[in-house]
Amino acid sequence: MEIRSSCQPAPDRRPPAVNEDLVLTGPDFAVVLDGATPFPGVSSGCRHTVAWLVSRIARYVAPPLLTASTAPLPDVLAEAIVAVCAEHADTCDLTNRDSPSSTVAMVRVGPDRVEHLVLADSPVVYRTPDGVVTVHSDDRLEHLPERTVESVRRLRNAPGGFWVASTSPEAAYEAVTGTTDRGEVAAIGVLSDGASRYVEQYGHTWSDLMTVLTTEGPAALIRRVRRYDAAATAVRWKRYDDATAVVLYDSGRYDGNDGGR
Ligand SMILES: [Zn+2]
Repeated sequence: MEIRSSCQPAPDRRPPAVNEDLVLTGPDFAVVLDGATPFPGVSSGCRHTVAWLVSRIARYVAPPLLTASTAPLPDVLAEAIVAVCAEHADTCDLTNRDSPSSTVAMVRVGPDRVEHLVLADSPVVYRTPDGVVTVHSDDRLEHLPERTVESVRRLRNAPGGFWVASTSPEAAYEAVTGTTDRGEVAAIGVLSDGASRYVEQYGHTWSDLMTVLTTEGPAALIRRVRRYDAAATAVRWKRYDDATAVVLYDSGRYDGNDGGR
């Protein structure tokens, strides 16, 4: 598959704030991570930033994906979380429930099947050769009874709550996972919620989103989202968010010009 990606910080970020999204792609895989911006004034027990956590997860999921390991994606993620924990176990309180965390979306395209893993609100979208679109998403964060600091803390990586990549390798086994026949997948979108809001907040269909990704490209999708963000009258958590979009598609099926040029 041919792979294109764009990963852009929220336009209102000011230094030292940095992009807390990260995209990692290889010959047959894509990973999107979206670090959770901490609540102001909450002690995380960790001397590291969210961007550090995200970059470390990427560092440890990359080797098995690059070496054609057949390890299941939850194992790949769980081992990465264990490795990240080992890096800061001596300096940070990993029992702190506000320790930095990230969403994870991963796809791996094999000769016969496509695997996905989705943890928290970074969805994976498949389109068949006939144009049928399927969304693999984890909406547990959406269904929290309330989104206060206290309830998020209590329900994070806890049964009945929601799961993210942080200090608990068990979270990897709570992800939404699955496999699909390779022949049923002609195009794949992998998104952070800063980009999927094109559908989730701005009223387009997932099919619309896949059309933009495969005809204009990921950067064009994010540009479209930014126009909505700038014009929004009812702001939902924050007006702007870091945004990441990846498209993987069968070469020869990409029929558009590049909207990014
Ligand atoms: Zn730390």
